[in-house]
Amino acid sequence: MTIVDKLKKIHNNILSTASRVTVIAVSKTFSLENIQPLIDYGHIHYGENRVTEAIQKWSELLIKNKDLKIHLIGSLQTNKVKEAVKIFSYIHSLDSERLALKLHEEQKKINKKIKYFIQINIGNENQKSGVTINDADNFINFCRNNTSLDIIGLMCIPPLSKDGGLYFSRLKDIAKKNKITELSMGMSSDYMDAIKYGSTFVRIGSYIFGERS
Ligand SMILES: *Cc1c(COP(=O)(O)O)cnc(C)c1O
Repeated sequence: MTIVDKLKKIHNNILSTASRVTVIAVSKTFSLENIQPLIDYGHIHYGENRVTEAIQKWSELLIKNKDLKIHLIGSLQTNKVKEAVKIFSYIHSLDSERLALKLHEEQKKINKKIKYFIQINIGNENQKSGVTINDADNFINFCRNNTSLDIIGLMCIPPLSKDGGLYFSRLKDIAKKNKITELSMGMSSDYMDAIKYGSTFVRIGSYIFGERS
């Protein structure tokens, strides 16, 4: 199957659930040459996890093709914010007050409105980034009261387990309580499960592009 066929298959699977879901094709580590067939097909949402790689790959194309939307799905250091706000339309890794204030400041300077997901460390794992479940409500309020950031959703990367549903439903509960509508959850291996629990943005890499080296 070509990468376009793979994307079509994902769209068909999603259609069968009658849900409204945006597919983010996670193109990290793949070159534009690999991605081009999807761009030609008209797909607009792409995910990258490193600011520098995203700028090198997408800057020129974005000038020619203003419909493309690049999503930052990896963590963001405050010293990369100035560059990040130039290239991304969506940021899924908002997880600290310092970062929120810096993003507020830098996007205002260039008059840009990025859409944000707050990343929640839904399994309370030491090695994962994201706001803890306990701090989630407070952090959402901080962003709403102290910044102009457009918080559209919550994002999570659940622990490896058979029981993704538990974590997906936890994220949905936090979103509902805070009147947040979008959920960024589900990857190649579990996106249909995530959609069952209300995901509205799935981040799919290896299923579309193949294994990363
Ligand atoms: C790489 C990555 C994905 C895509 O994972 P696949 O298993 O290749 O679909 C999704 N979300 C995040 C945050 C990632 O870093």
